[in-house]
Amino acid sequence: MPDAVVVGAGPNGLAAAVELARAGLSVRVLEAADTVGGGARSAELTLPGFVHDVCSAIHPLGIASPFFRTLPLADHGLEWIDPPAALAHPFDDGSAALLERSQEAEVPTVGDDDERWRRLFAPLVRDPESLLDEILAPPHLPAHPLTLARFGLRALLPTTTVARHAFRGARARGLFAGLAAHSMLPLERPPSAAFGLMLGLLGHAVGWPFPRGGSQRLSDALASYLRSLGGEIETGRRVESLAELGETRPVLLDVTPRGLLELAGDRLPDRYRRGLERYRYGPGVFKLDWALDGPIPWRAEECSRAATVHLGATLEEITASEAAPAQNRIADRPYVLLAQQSLFDSTRAPEGRHTAWAYCHVPNGSDVDMTERIESQVERFAPGFRGRILARSTLGPADLERSNPNYVGGDINGGLADLGQLFTRPVARWPPYSTPLPGVFLCSASTPPGGGVHGMCGYHAARAALRSIQSRPSSS
Ligand SMILES: Cc1cc2nc3c(=O)[nH]c(=O)nc-3n(C[C@H](O)[C@H](O)[C@H](O)COP(=O)(O)OP(=O)(O)OC[C@H]3O[C@@H](n4cnc5c(N)ncnc54)[C@H](O)[C@@H]3O)c2cc1C
Repeated sequence: MPDAVVVGAGPNGLAAAVELARAGLSVRVLEAADTVGGGARSAELTLPGFVHDVCSAIHPLGIASPFFRTLPLADHGLEWIDPPAALAHPFDDGSAALLERSQEAEVPTVGDDDERWRRLFAPLVRDPESLLDEILAPPHLPAHPLTLARFGLRALLPTTTVARHAFRGARARGLFAGLAAHSMLPLERPPSAAFGLMLGLLGHAVGWPFPRGGSQRLSDALASYLRSLGGEIETGRRVESLAELGETRPVLLDVTPRGLLELAGDRLPDRYRRGLERYRYGPGVFKLDWALDGPIPWRAEECSRAATVHLGATLEEITASEAAPAQNRIADRPYVLLAQQSLFDSTRAPEGRHTAWAYCHVPNGSDVDMTERIESQVERFAPGFRGRILARSTLGPADLERSNPNYVGGDINGGLADLGQLFTRPVARWPPYSTPLPGVFLCSASTPPGGGVHGMCGYHAARAALRSIQSRPSSS
């Protein structure tokens, strides 16, 4: 019997397993899918030789993660590719704003708002490591209160308020709205601005890189390091009930509250079970992957300097798009997040060919096909794009959930990240990773600090589990 079991080999499950193994425990990971990685996997979704990221593609949080930074992942095959610009944000006049690495937070492409952008971001970019230590953690007494206050005063506001107060022009407002829309919240709601500030500061401080060969390489590196520490991974093993795991404790679950309800059944006390049942999931996503016979023909050529491109132009358009899913509506012109990794990574496609990845937000569980709407948005900024499509793969909310039970209704963040659930996910409890079942912990994105490939939920859950072992009364 191992000392500890982790259910689920997503970034957080693997991070939890690594931290337990680093502490000297023997660990076994049980993963339902045939490959490790959960939301960080790659596969030939369209044609042979075209490598697509099935879920996550771009990893500012991965490279900046306070936990991943301590691991020798390069020795286990991880190589980050850092494109010249983190992000491009095209406009209808054929120009684009670019977010680039800059310790001074300079964005000359937003015109008159350049200085205002610098004033907003430069104080955050100065000490990103301290700030990330504070933000990517469960609620705690801050070690860097001033740094956190500089971020938090605006982070807790709606995006629309910050964008309208901080900037005068449409370019900076649109650029900021595109960043903040990663929150999957209506932009009139707090704390959507937090996502804009965080992703903007990461763009300036560390860039928005991605792993050569695909997101799978990050997961494979974590798995390889885990094995080097003696950890075991069993794939193709879906755990149906906690009873299958016998008496082994601690058990760390890389699952959502719904997954915990299924696994623990009647074992959970009523109050906690009701809390999990009340947990709210966010909008879903509809995703497209394309095999292309050439690069995307952007009207704004500078879009080819970035692996990530945000399509939605203005604060007003992106705000309207992000309001729709919350009202159970489909946006006619959805805000689209697009990645074009093959421009910088020749391993992604046969020579001369390219891949692209894109998604938009839709109501949770939506079965509306968004292919036409997403491709129209790309065509708007890159006329001739459709003519380059060799093949496409579509993944709607139901497909995503079928491939990974954590994507409830297509929600990729493990639950809504509004003020009610950002800090106290999945329920108000200390530590948030613990459950009323002794030795059973949650370690998924449904715990703080939430969605994204950073492994910090897994790391903090593992630390909580290790503390619980140390405080166990000795049996001798
Ligand atoms: C389309 C899409 C795009 C995204 N883009 C980005 C991006 O660019 N950058 C970024 O940082 N993040 C992105 N994300 C979000 C990111 O992938 C997730 O936030 C992250 O993967 C969450 O990690 P996790 O370990 O908590 O859960 P997951 O990655 O979902 O992993 C959970 C794992 O547990 C397994 N599992 C669940 N239940 C069981 C069970 N009962 N038995 C055994 N195994 C089980 C699942 O099969 C899965 O492998 C994206 C996600 C999607 C879907």
